[in-house]
Amino acid sequence: MQKSPETAQPTDTPKRIALMAGSFNPFTIGHASIVERGLELFDEVVVAVGQHPDKPHTDARERADAIAAVYSGEPRVRVIVSHRLTADIAREVGARFLLRGVRSVRDFEYERDMADVNRELGEGLETVLLTALPHLSALSSTVVRDIASYGKDVSRYLPRPSTGQSMSSKDNNTK
Ligand code: ADP
Repeated sequence: MQKSPETAQPTDTPKRIALMAGSFNPFTIGHASIVERGLELFDEVVVAVGQHPDKPHTDARERADAIAAVYSGEPRVRVIVSHRLTADIAREVGARFLLRGVRSVRDFEYERDMADVNRELGEGLETVLLTALPHLSALSSTVVRDIASYGKDVSRYLPRPSTGQSMSSKDNNTK
């Protein structure tokens, strides 16, 4: 029987995969909110944990495991470790979109530049920017690391199960 246009399922539509790459040191509820909102837009979100090329790479695996535990019940989130260029990771995992969060004008300037570079390097790779939820717009991994370095409890900034144990003090990026 021929399907009516309303009920026909597009079987050959490629999965819409978005890549969210970052150092996630640590992965915060700000990052989690972008992943969750991304799941509304995409079939799959791949979280790629990397580290700045001149920083030690040893902790990325631990961080990725902690993030994977957060999404153990969500099969549409995949967590990988990769220290490669973002456009190359996107190609590898079949992502045609990059998913990023924007907290401020300062973030926006940076993200726009990166989006342009990645569109070029990734042959049309598009970046989707989601504005941070107002109550999360001041939250960054750096702030969480700073607070933790004074021995304070940072659990309110971290998803469950906690990604805090995987926090490394070696990565001092300023975002
Ligand atoms: P990077 O390693 O590139 O600095 P981060 O780990 O800082 O990456 O963050 C990855 C992405 O998550 C970035 O797009 C960043 O803007 C976004 N992000 C970080 N914190 C928040 C937040 N509180 N709300 C929304 N987006 C956020």
